Amino acid sequence: MDMTRRKFVSGAALGLATTTLSKISGAEPDGEIKKGEMPLIVSTWPFGKASNDAGLKVLQEGGTILDAVEQGIWVTESDVHNQSVGLAGAPNAAGVVQLDSCIMYGPGHKAGSVGAIEGIRHPISAARRVMEKTPHVMLVGEGARMFALEQGLESIEVDTHEKYETWKKKRASEKQPLRKDKNHDTIALLVLGADGNIAGGCSTSGLSGKLPGRVGDSPIIGSGLYVDNDVGAAGATGLGENVMRYCGSFLVVEFMRQGLHPQEACLAAIRRIARQDPRHTELSISFVALDKHGRYGAASSAQGFQYSVTTNSKSEVLTGPGVGNLDIGEVGGNRPKIKP
Ligand code: ASP
Repeated sequence: MDMTRRKFVSGAALGLATTTLSKISGAEPDGEIKKGEMPLIVSTWPFGKASNDAGLKVLQEGGTILDAVEQGIWVTESDVHNQSVGLAGAPNAAGVVQLDSCIMYGPGHKAGSVGAIEGIRHPISAARRVMEKTPHVMLVGEGARMFALEQGLESIEVDTHEKYETWKKKRASEKQPLRKDKNHDTIALLVLGADGNIAGGCSTSGLSGKLPGRVGDSPIIGSGLYVDNDVGAAGATGLGENVMRYCGSFLVVEFMRQGLHPQEACLAAIRRIARQDPRHTELSISFVALDKHGRYGAASSAQGFQYSVTTNSKSEVLTGPGVGNLDIGEVGGNRPKIKP
């Protein structure tokens, strides 16, 4: 992750008064597009812009919003310079790249996902095939790879047995069993079509140096991604463990359902997580979101989170507000008061 990580859950911040939903933002949300500017595509990070542009082209050429999500994400998955998405992404502790991805389609509330898949060039396509061709939502590991191969998806040879065996021996002799690399990012890409339907997808190689078999938030429906066709969509990037314990993207969408602007909803979710997790001085999480009305936004636990927004009339990289300098409300403020 490139952006500076800041310690934002300071003792002082924890002591501040409860924040009400009506003044939750702290940064005025203004992201909104007009009907003529549709479609709207929002994704994580500046590298998402190339994916957004590809997705827009798909739509302009008559493709569906699912095609736009899938083919948009192909661009980032194929980028050999991107070290956190696709086969050029960061390997796990055994030196093997294991990829996570999921996709959702608003109409019919459909979802598909793959976790810890190896050697498949476009995990987003594997996720889409799980959604469209199986009665399941999620496939993982070797089963996911076998399915992707059966579907004829592009692959590379992987013979990881030796790598895992070597790693297991090394691990057994190490006092510090797991490297703590902080290199990670995800593309989460959300599309609001001109017809008002919504789709989204995400793809990542996850945390660098993760334990083999570790699955992050990105392929977990409701954590790394959530789409509700009546409300909007949200996607996450950052330390997956700090998103998946809170169903982060689902939380953002639920805040939008309560009437919050997408940016306020992202901020509200981060504040909620920070309030429940006061030990975490470095949450390292960010959300992007859009709603049914063409409004969009993002927010992060740190300052400087950049995300990409593309419409028929513009394609740009914006910076979302960070919760670091804003109060998070009363610690434990979400919990019902139980008499001792
Ligand atoms: N959320 C991803 C994971 O934990 C990594 C990231 O987006 O930075 O696997």
